[in-house]
Amino acid sequence: MSVILDSSHPVPHLSSTLLTAAGGIAHGFSTRLGGVSSAPFDSLDLGYNRGDDPARVAENYRRFCAAIGADHDRVIKSRQIHTANIHVVTEADLGVALCEPAPYEADGLVTNVPGLCLTVFTADCVPVLLYDPVARCVAAVHSGWRSTAMAIVPKAVQVMADRFGSRQENIIAAIGPAIGGCCFQTQKEVPDAMLETYGSAAAPFIRPDGPGHFRVDLRGIIAGSLHNAGLTGNHIDISDHCTACRPDLFWSHRLVGNARGSMAAMIQLL
Ligand SMILES: [Zn+2]
Repeated sequence: MSVILDSSHPVPHLSSTLLTAAGGIAHGFSTRLGGVSSAPFDSLDLGYNRGDDPARVAENYRRFCAAIGADHDRVIKSRQIHTANIHVVTEADLGVALCEPAPYEADGLVTNVPGLCLTVFTADCVPVLLYDPVARCVAAVHSGWRSTAMAIVPKAVQVMADRFGSRQENIIAAIGPAIGGCCFQTQKEVPDAMLETYGSAAAPFIRPDGPGHFRVDLRGIIAGSLHNAGLTGNHIDISDHCTACRPDLFWSHRLVGNARGSMAAMIQLL
């Protein structure tokens, strides 16, 4: 199974064949294609905080949510701050206008309430969607290197277990498009942080790249951490799309800095 790109759709997007096969949810990862925003936000910008025309961003939400079967008027998002904070979402979190910032800071959202569309934003950082079709709960996680070093994804699995009775072996994970080990060049602090958190399990995903530099495969580290958290290997889908290798499909913060739009990963219990 895999994370596949539907490039023939009017709003090209990615989805996990594992999550789709499990049924009972809407989910997807956006690309930069299929929207109405103009440069440098062209064209499917889902960020209200980067200077784009809010009316165009609203239309982009309508298009992307329609493409994946989610409710654009029930989107739940957070202010992402590269932590391991996880917010358990309830109906009480509805009612914030899409164009307004969320009233809380978190890099992970978890819920068991159907009809709430959990949303995280990325442009190189790793988006991770989790679904337990037995206990009926979902999570959306924004896992950049700092949050990965704080083990936010295994923490989200633990929240699903603690709050909603999930059994780890029932959880399905989809790891979305992100900067790959091909392009994520770092200094020593990133591999040091990964080795401190994950020990030797992180080592296969760190390559030396000249004096004082490394290339780090965050998705590989996250997949390994999910395996260690108790997920089965055939319940973990990993996108092989690199945001920095494919500027035609994605925005990469590394490549273009702040002059860009935002991509989103969404998951909603139906
Ligand atoms: Zn790359």
